[in-house]
Amino acid sequence: MRSFKIGKLMGISLELHSTFIWLILLIIIFLAILDPFALIPSLILLFFLFLSVFIHELFHSIVAVSKGIKVEKIILLPIGGISLTEEMPEKAVDEFQIAIAGPLFNFAMVFLIVFLVSTFPFLPWPWHIFSGVEVTIEELNNAIMLFPLFGLFWVNLILGVFNLLPALPLDGGRLFRSLLSWKIGFNKATHIASKVSSFFAILLFLIGLLGANIILVIIAVFIYLGASQENEVVVVKETLRGVDLSKIINRKPIILDSKMSLEEAFSIMEKRNKTAFLVKIGRGFGFIAVEMLKDIERSKWPATKLGKIAKKLPLMKLSDGSAKIMTTILSKGYPFIPIREKGAFIGIIEESEMNKVYKLTKLIKRA
Ligand code: ZN
Repeated sequence: MRSFKIGKLMGISLELHSTFIWLILLIIIFLAILDPFALIPSLILLFFLFLSVFIHELFHSIVAVSKGIKVEKIILLPIGGISLTEEMPEKAVDEFQIAIAGPLFNFAMVFLIVFLVSTFPFLPWPWHIFSGVEVTIEELNNAIMLFPLFGLFWVNLILGVFNLLPALPLDGGRLFRSLLSWKIGFNKATHIASKVSSFFAILLFLIGLLGANIILVIIAVFIYLGASQENEVVVVKETLRGVDLSKIINRKPIILDSKMSLEEAFSIMEKRNKTAFLVKIGRGFGFIAVEMLKDIERSKWPATKLGKIAKKLPLMKLSDGSAKIMTTILSKGYPFIPIREKGAFIGIIEESEMNKVYKLTKLIKRA
């Protein structure tokens, strides 16, 4: 699903995931019909959620940047955010500090609010919730709706606690992995952490199913997929460490000019039976792939220049290592990566060739 860019801060692009927008729309429609009086309080609560998730992610990012890790973007989801970094911190201390920063913000908010309401008695606060008498879910809901400060408190408490679940890709899973990797190394730690996460995911899934709690089921699936993805990245890295890629460099790739039209590019694709081509853009490179042509009306192909729609590619070096080149290709979905040596372009490494190397190496290296 897509996400929409809403701003930029400290070089980090901020994006709102489409599920967040759907949630806002759904809540507005449902409440407008069923309970119009709850509409404004719900939107305030949603705004608090948005703000808290955002600052939570910002705290991760600030610590990551201070460790020299580049943060590309923050994507905000209703259940939390994702900070996309260029690489994963492999040092256990770094991962621990980056992971703890987010929940720490949420708990700091919780304590700050408790401090404020106990210091300033004029602040509206549902004291009856804390009287020790058992509270029904309805009473809790009412308190969240009627007392904005309590809503903010609640949102941060849930975010803090939920994110500390010891399941990858949640912060708790990262903390768990970083503690493990102190003892047994990053790769083994990830294998164990991802198994534990899958167990948690299945448990949450069953609880959600039995309790007919759709949100819990969605979270369980999110954790399950996230955990196996983290594990896969590590398997790729482990397998490809030290593998020589110089033999699979295509040293004479066809390079299209950025002034060429889509129509011309397509006829070359057809003629060569290839679905992606390298495009020279200024001093760097980009690529054009058949999927990108699908989004543009056929009648516009002759007038559209490649330079307008080609996607930029990073120039990498063989010394970046086969693992990093492979994970870049996989995570970004690039068809190939241009390679330079001593400042000059020497060819491309194609995803399909990389995959063959990966399969062959994995066969030999399997334990
Ligand atoms: Zn977090």
